[in-house]
Amino acid sequence: MSERIEWLDDGTRDGSPYNPRFSDRYRSESGGLAQATEVFLNGCGLPVAWASRPQWTILETGFGLGLNFLVTWAAWQADPQRPRLLHFVSTEAFPTSADDVLRAARSQPELLPLAEQLQHQLWGLLPGFHRLVFAGGQVLLTLCIGDAKAMLREQSFEADSVYLDGFSPQCNPDIWDIHTLRAVARCCRRGTGVASWTVARSVRDALAQCGFMVHKVPGVPPKRDNLQGVFNPAWTPKKTRSSLASIRRPAARCVVIGAGLAGAAVAASLARRGWQVTVLDGAAAPAAGASGLPAGLLSPHVSPDDSLLSRLSRSGVRATLQQADKLLQAGSDWSRSGVLELGVEHPRKQPAAWLQDKDLAEAARDWTRPATPEQLAACGQSPDAEALWHVQAGWIKPARLVQAWLGMRGIQWRGHATVSQLIRQDDAWQLLDASGQELACADLVVLAAGFASRALASSGDSADLPAVPLALQAIRGQLSWGMHGPDALESLPAFPVNGHGSLLPALPLSGTAGGLAWLLGSSFERDNALAEIRPEDNQHNLHRLQTLLPAVADTLRDEFDSGDVQAWAGVRCATPSRLPAVGPLNKPPMPGLWLCSGMGSRGLTFTALCAELLAARLHGEPLPVEQRLADALLPQRGVVASAPDN
Ligand SMILES: Cc1cc2nc3c(=O)[nH]c(=O)nc-3n(C[C@H](O)[C@H](O)[C@H](O)COP(=O)(O)OP(=O)(O)OC[C@H]3O[C@@H](n4cnc5c(N)ncnc54)[C@H](O)[C@@H]3O)c2cc1C
Repeated sequence: MSERIEWLDDGTRDGSPYNPRFSDRYRSESGGLAQATEVFLNGCGLPVAWASRPQWTILETGFGLGLNFLVTWAAWQADPQRPRLLHFVSTEAFPTSADDVLRAARSQPELLPLAEQLQHQLWGLLPGFHRLVFAGGQVLLTLCIGDAKAMLREQSFEADSVYLDGFSPQCNPDIWDIHTLRAVARCCRRGTGVASWTVARSVRDALAQCGFMVHKVPGVPPKRDNLQGVFNPAWTPKKTRSSLASIRRPAARCVVIGAGLAGAAVAASLARRGWQVTVLDGAAAPAAGASGLPAGLLSPHVSPDDSLLSRLSRSGVRATLQQADKLLQAGSDWSRSGVLELGVEHPRKQPAAWLQDKDLAEAARDWTRPATPEQLAACGQSPDAEALWHVQAGWIKPARLVQAWLGMRGIQWRGHATVSQLIRQDDAWQLLDASGQELACADLVVLAAGFASRALASSGDSADLPAVPLALQAIRGQLSWGMHGPDALESLPAFPVNGHGSLLPALPLSGTAGGLAWLLGSSFERDNALAEIRPEDNQHNLHRLQTLLPAVADTLRDEFDSGDVQAWAGVRCATPSRLPAVGPLNKPPMPGLWLCSGMGSRGLTFTALCAELLAARLHGEPLPVEQRLADALLPQRGVVASAPDN
């Protein structure tokens, strides 16, 4: 979905970027660097204003070629007094290509290393929010692709600084009109700084109407004047959303119950924000529950209406890929192998718009495209079979991710610590074991114990902890696996296949065993919370493989018949909507009690994203996904009760 750019000859090697749609240049004649630094960064009093603050949030209208972001990131990086976390939220209706972003930065060699990292993450920019992660998770760029007004309606945070950028008010009046500026004002607190390169009368008037006090300052040549100001309305700003995100909570101590993917991801997201996190688990080692799965598939969901689940799954896959890229060993812990999805029972259809609109099609192809005849042939399918190739997909060993997250600074893991009861005492939560001994005490407790979260939320049938009803369901599952003999790999596709059960053809095993294993997943038994192995489930898995990949089933049948096949079973935890459940428990009010669970069959897709969402809500930060999507995950959505937010 890349905006076409013309590179005008300005005497430099790369030229000056020009946008034919708006008949305007992307940067002033003096070059973008001076404008980004002096008009926007310094115009908002940065970096001085953010010194020693835990977080700083910048809102920008018009991402363009990303120069303001790169300059701000570079200033943050160079500042010994930088905030722990820098949020940069930028709206863009017409995103440029990653290559153009890099080309635009070439004239500023000092920014080039940052621009290369940005370029690497600029893919698949379909309409909606995209959270890009830099500097080990301390610089978070939320790119909101679409009309600025619509995008800002989907956010609820308070910006500390606002960069008003974009093509000139004459060329692109929409981004400067009263409606857009009102949407910007909705994201401001009293005292939010604002800066722009335009001093157009219409813009100044609209800003004043929205509660900004602005004044002209000497401009960066060739502009005589620039604009600076502050949000300081004469009225008390009305917060239209009874936002859960209204508290700027300082990082403190927190206890997470459960050391699976969900608990470890939450611990990592909070530790990144300065929390001291204790993770308690009843088992002797982390990832003892469903996250002990030998390996699982990571792949986006596709639907003709691009459903909430589909959109959420893309955000989740992106979040997990970022973590895997940074923390895991490619090839042994995980692989971005791609995944082929065969439409066995219900052929998966991509949204029609993706196929019709050239720009959408380009962005969508970064995610998912029709399988090629070669890929289909490798699965024994005819060239016209209905199948999708998920590009941003692969397999991961969940336990490796759990270990990497728990190993982060600020996290303490404790095993053999089964929590039986939560008691509210002196504004804190006391966590007790079965004998009534205190295991831990904290202001903030996050339940991430899979299906056991349901019982924990109702563990205090007293006034201290009224029962909190949670619609969580246990779903037992078993996968079958075995080691490859010599030459066995040749008869299997070279990539994972999903659609009616799944096949992971070659998983490298670590440790003394070594070698390559095949994995066949997985049975699905509702309302069974026992992770027991059953021989009949192996037969069930083979039976489904016969439908998915008959030739592979024939190859593996002997191993099933001879009883050489091994199995692993676990218990998934799902919600009725099949979406995860993340957020505060507040019906009835439970101050400081949060949930992150209900990952269903997509823990690898959802946990990294849900952990960031939980942290964003807790701190009043920009959301990593649209508000509509985030709200759909609230654990007690639909439960009627008038309760204050946590
Ligand atoms: C057969 C099977 C195949 C799957 N395949 C895939 C796949 O391909 N891709 C994918 O993304 N997902 C897959 N999943 C789903 C994925 O495994 C889960 O979504 C994910 O592991 C859930 O993580 P969790 O942290 O929420 O729960 P869990 O990993 O179950 O963690 C819960 C933790 O809480 C602890 N705990 C429970 N009660 C207490 C207590 N009272 N006190 C202290 N600790 C407690 C447990 O010991 C456990 O460690 C599969 C699941 C199964 C069963």
